[in-house]
Amino acid sequence: RGALGSLGKSRAKFISAEETTGVTFDDFAGQEYIKRELQEIVRILQNDEAFQDKGIYCPKGVLLHGPPGTGKTLLAKAIAGEAGLPFFAANGTDFVEMFVGVAAARVKDLFSSARSYAPSIIFIDEIDAIGSKRGGPDIGGGGAEREQGLLQILTEMDGFKVSTAQVLVIGATNRLDILDPALLRKGRFDKIIRVGLPSKDGRLAILKVHARNKFFRSEEEKDNLLQEIAELAVDFTGAELQNILNEAGILTARKDLDYIGREELLEALKRQKGTFATGQEDSTEIPEELKLRLAYREAAVAVLACYYPNPHRPFTETDIRSIRSQPNMCYAEISGKVYSRKSDYVESIVRACAPRVIEEEMFGVDNLCWISAKATLEASRHAEFLILQTGMTAFGKAYYRNQSDLVPHLAVKLEALRDEYMRFAVEKCSSVLNEYHSAVETITDVLLEDGEIKAEEIWDIYRRAPRLPQPTVQPVDEYGALIYAGRWGIHGVSLPGRVTFAPGNVGFAT
Ligand code: ADP
Repeated sequence: RGALGSLGKSRAKFISAEETTGVTFDDFAGQEYIKRELQEIVRILQNDEAFQDKGIYCPKGVLLHGPPGTGKTLLAKAIAGEAGLPFFAANGTDFVEMFVGVAAARVKDLFSSARSYAPSIIFIDEIDAIGSKRGGPDIGGGGAEREQGLLQILTEMDGFKVSTAQVLVIGATNRLDILDPALLRKGRFDKIIRVGLPSKDGRLAILKVHARNKFFRSEEEKDNLLQEIAELAVDFTGAELQNILNEAGILTARKDLDYIGREELLEALKRQKGTFATGQEDSTEIPEELKLRLAYREAAVAVLACYYPNPHRPFTETDIRSIRSQPNMCYAEISGKVYSRKSDYVESIVRACAPRVIEEEMFGVDNLCWISAKATLEASRHAEFLILQTGMTAFGKAYYRNQSDLVPHLAVKLEALRDEYMRFAVEKCSSVLNEYHSAVETITDVLLEDGEIKAEEIWDIYRRAPRLPQPTVQPVDEYGALIYAGRWGIHGVSLPGRVTFAPGNVGFAT
């Protein structure tokens, strides 16, 4: 373990090298299928004869993609650790310098170091910094430099022969969509693995890994507490879960206690949540006007969540104690098989509009602020996903990875249809908020008064609120019928002329 002895000194600063990482697959919890897949690669790297005989060779490149903190680096180190191979790591951002030729030279340096220790592992974190699409918008400058670096990676990967004594290149990114397609071709990063946010069971498993070296009153208490935290920590990454336990350990020590208890864990969870925020966790520090905006935002999100309840993610509570660019509403997860119908996608677009629509309505179009800005982005993303990747709209039944896959006339069509959906979503959202305006006001009052509100109370207010009838919102062109049919849960029936529903399935136009 540690830096590679003799080469350690001459090695360029941007490469970190370890003889072996000492990390194993046991250190990574949740998402078992990822481990199974990578285990196979480790066996090939170890020259397992069962594979050699069948002529199975190791992929040259593995690309791990997913949000930061989900364990991509950990997995790369575990592959090296399990196979007992040297590990050479660099960060994509380190390649790009303002000096001409540096990027390509650094890539060369990295590969030649790794090759002299082959078989070995190269890990390039944030590979998108150097491997983004050529000819795309030049974010952050250094475009030509980056292109040289990218070309060098391609050359290096094409250069080495597929053999048993090889170098495996592992890349990590959270922006798969901006990677140059050339990187993803066969013989380069031809194995792409998504590392996503852990499920509830996954979170529990991760917490257990990081609780190994912590003290609890008893095994039973430990299990119960971790179970509770796993349930509460919806959408937390592995890194954040690890932080909760570390923080709880620190709080315990500060109080001079022997064991981590419920109070410390909940406090740590709260603090971890707060790191998403601007640091102003205490509602007394949030300026009054911002508090009012937050309260309206959460109330609008709550009303839409009642109007279009998401069966897969019932909401649990919300508060106005932290300022985030996304709603504070918390959701529970329901395990079991999940499938989404077209109506579910459309409803998610409508729900996502709530922060922006209410802010505009209450504070005026010239007086918007950033706490609703993300909502617009999210709504358009949902719409684009529905149009490009589900084959459920008038756009057609083909699948497109993203907008850059489109030829110009399709890009125009996408924009037109997305605008249609956005128009519908904004109008529908605004109509729901008007209809339930009194519920919005009541929930806002509770939030301003108590700082928080639970699902039960939200439902109660929603059900009892007087409603103001609204005119019908014009649905999205011919496909609008689906939206309403889906909402009423009609399955297995044919609507006159155009739409059919398979039981429990999505509808397609006929
Ligand atoms: P990424 O490379 O995806 O940004 P990291 O691998 O750097 O994430 O994760 C940071 C730390 O978080 C890891 O070193 C590990 O301690 C913890 N962690 C993240 N995901 C997991 C997981 N699935 N199981 C166990 N620990 C995890």
